[in-house]
Amino acid sequence: METEIPSKELKAKLKNRSWVRKVFFISVLAFILIWCVGAFILVDELIELRNYLFYAALFVWVVILASGLYLHNAKCPRCGNKYSAQPKWPYMFNTFSRKCINCGLKLDGSYI
Ligand SMILES: [Zn+2]
Repeated sequence: METEIPSKELKAKLKNRSWVRKVFFISVLAFILIWCVGAFILVDELIELRNYLFYAALFVWVVILASGLYLHNAKCPRCGNKYSAQPKWPYMFNTFSRKCINCGLKLDGSYI
């Protein structure tokens, strides 16, 4: 098994991707939570709260879209291809992959 010490820049980019990945999952959980809270507010005094929840859900939805698009389209810092998709047939992709689908660079910086 080959082990190389990744450069600082490469490691920073992987850390950035790892951070965005966490933001995505936390946003999805937040969206579900906001949805549930909004759905079960039936008391008339709290109806106005639903407007704020709507805007919060909208904001979280934008975060989900932006982070998801970043995760899907960002390039691998080592091989230059998309981190989560193969450029050639068979077009495999895994947006939430912990390693580059093309070269195998893992999010923690270790190589296969
Ligand atoms: Zn790669």
